[in-house]
Amino acid sequence: MPGSMEMRQEKIFYSEAAFEGIARQVLCEYDEKLYFGVPQAVPVEEIIEHRGVLLEYQYIRKDGRVLGKTIFEDGLDAVWDMEEQEYILFPVKAGTILIDASLCEDESKLGRLRFTCAHELAHWLLHKDLFDRLPEDTDVELMTEKCGLEVQANMLASSLLMPLSQIKKCYYRLFTDGIRERLEIIEKMAALFQASCQAMRIRLEKHRLV
Ligand SMILES: [Zn+2]
Repeated sequence: MPGSMEMRQEKIFYSEAAFEGIARQVLCEYDEKLYFGVPQAVPVEEIIEHRGVLLEYQYIRKDGRVLGKTIFEDGLDAVWDMEEQEYILFPVKAGTILIDASLCEDESKLGRLRFTCAHELAHWLLHKDLFDRLPEDTDVELMTEKCGLEVQANMLASSLLMPLSQIKKCYYRLFTDGIRERLEIIEKMAALFQASCQAMRIRLEKHRLV
């Protein structure tokens, strides 16, 4: 069966509401308070492990170009050995998320680290079945780009880390407290949800809150 045909058939569209629905389900399966309680930072690493997905922190590439990678089948993956300064083959199991260890090096990268974890979890949730059925010779990078899988993973990651119900609750609470200045709202909310200011700004702008 030609790969391109398969790709066309596999092109799946999700609505914004579908991402929110998936996020709500994933969060509530871990702890309903994450969606319905007092707004707080979502413990994304714990949620990943709670779902039986393994988290591994490795230097994925020498230059830090790849921040995360989801493993869909058992095998060996090349990772950068910082001490030996060379690539080594690292045994990985299906259902592993590799996170670039550089993201754990300093506190300023926390938002990036958490978004990468959520992005990779989103690939696992949305694309596992798709990858399980891929023909051997599929160009995964090309397919990822053509089918918009990155955009989907980013959208679900945003919904997971900044659930719409929670950002609205938080926004109106700040508003009631007299905080009206755009930058202050973004900074306060980014700090609360442990997201980058950029990710929070995009999320709030999308829902016309700032
Ligand atoms: Zn991705």
